[in-house]
Formats: sequence, structure tokens, C-alpha cells
Amino acid sequence: MKATDSIPPLRVTPSSWRPPPGALPTVTGTLADLRELVNGGGVVALTGAGMSTESGIPDYRGPDGARRVTPMTIDQFRDEYGARHYWSRAYVGWDRFRAARPNVGHVALAELERRGLVDAVITQNVDGLHQEAGSGTVLELHGTLTTVVCLDCSAVFRREHLQAALGRLNPGFAQVAHAARGSIRPDGDVELPGELVTDFRVAACEDCGGDQLKPDVVFFGESAHRDVVARCFERIESARSLLVLGSSLAVMSGLRFVRRAARMGLPVAIVTNGPTRGDELATLRLTGPLGEVLPALATAADRTT
Ligand SMILES: [Zn+2]
Repeated sequence: MKATDSIPPLRVTPSSWRPPPGALPTVTGTLADLRELVNGGGVVALTGAGMSTESGIPDYRGPDGARRVTPMTIDQFRDEYGARHYWSRAYVGWDRFRAARPNVGHVALAELERRGLVDAVITQNVDGLHQEAGSGTVLELHGTLTTVVCLDCSAVFRREHLQAALGRLNPGFAQVAHAARGSIRPDGDVELPGELVTDFRVAACEDCGGDQLKPDVVFFGESAHRDVVARCFERIESARSLLVLGSSLAVMSGLRFVRRAARMGLPVAIVTNGPTRGDELATLRLTGPLGEVLPALATAADRTT
């Protein structure tokens, strides 16, 4: 039996969780406490959308924890209109998504890893910004937008390659759509008028000719890859502390690791701007922009080395 056989499927489902009315995060520690925790080393970071908002990629939820954007589910994607809906919007949004750069929080977290204090980053983000900032051990719980997989033959393509193919199939679409587009969404697509979407041609798989190309991300309603989940649990089990950054933990895929860490008696520090579903499990709870908190930690760590 492989080690991963004992891992239950980690299905990612839209969460109806929202904080109780009027709930504000209860701050239960100081930046100095957090520094002390991080300087102890063995930190596993669990990051969510709040990590990338300072890079210009919006969150699914607002600062009050309420969901602002409803993500597409795998069932919606699988119907033909769903795929066309997804790819037309993702095609138009790609340039802006790809243009996002790591912010000072990403850079500071990578620095903490380089200094041997952070062991691994488990991320719910699909933007690749941790790797771009220099983090070496990144577990992408919800996959990545940088590759595309064929659901028929399992071939994997670079997203850039597909972007070019979509451009050839839909000449002039980008110009028309750019004029009509709305704001960029957390998963890299944009709002487009329905009549534009119906005109869009979806690319076929170059290996098998099938029309089931899907971004290599875990859609709501799918399960996270078992081997990734197993590696995340391994990291938690060998950690000295868990540091949650920019996640409301509304989705069970992230909350499950917090629960595991808490059951093991590990210190759990949470730094986000709004309330989280894991607040009662936290031993340390801070608010504040990650672009300020994380560089402050990296600076403090510098003094100790
Ligand atoms: Zn194929």
C-alpha cells in the first residue's frame, strides 16, 4: 500500500462559511511573539489569496470574509458552454494575470526559507508567485495556471502555448474583448458579455484532438491531487509551527491542515486582515498587511543570524 492510499480524497468545495455578523479577528499576540515563533524554525506556511492581493490579484472574499466572487465548478466547466465560458474569459485575462509580480510579502517569505526558518510553503494560490519570488519548496494545493492538461489523454501543455493557439483560432477577439472586459478575477479570468463568449472557439488537444483541455488547477467540486495532499501532511507532521498567511480558511482544503496541526499541539499563527474559520485554533492571531508583517519578520530574522 502506498503512503498516499491512506489519504482521504480532499475535495475542494465552495464554502458557504461566512463570519458571524460583526465578527472581528481577535488579536492574541504581537509581532514580537510571531518573530519568536518564526525564529524557532521549522515553519510551514499555508498561504491563500490574501498573499497575492498586494500583487494586484483579487481575493474571492472581501476583508469582511464574505464571498464576492463565485468560482466556477468542475461540473460547470465540463459542459461545452462552460469550457467556452472559461477559456474566452481566461484568454482575455491572461496577459494581466501573467503580468502580476511577487510582492514584498512573497519575497520576505522566500528569504525566510533561504535562511532555514521556513521549511515549506503550502499554497492555495495558482499564480506561481511564490516560486517567482524564490521559494524553493512550494506545494500547490489547488494546482497551477501555468500548465493545461487534456482530460482525454492526460497530455500536459504550457499555458503560453495554448494562449498562442487560442489567439490563432480567435483573431481579433482580444481587441473586441478588451474593450468590453470587466475587472480581473482571482482565478485569472475577466467578466465578458455573454454574446462575446458564444463566438469564442476553444482549442483542441494537439495530441489526441479532443476538446477537453482544462487548466491544471483544482476546480471547485474536484479533489486536490493525492500526492500533493500527502506531501502537505508530511510537511505538517515534521513542522514546529504552522503559519497561515492571507487565507480565510473558509475552504476545507486549507482548514484541514490547520486542524491537523492543532491536534498535534503545534503552534498555529494566523495573519490575515479579516476573520478566519480557524481563529479558534490559533495560538497567535495577528492582523495587518502581509506586505508589512512578513518583511518585518525577515528583518528580525536577519538580526539573529
Ligand atoms: Zn488529448
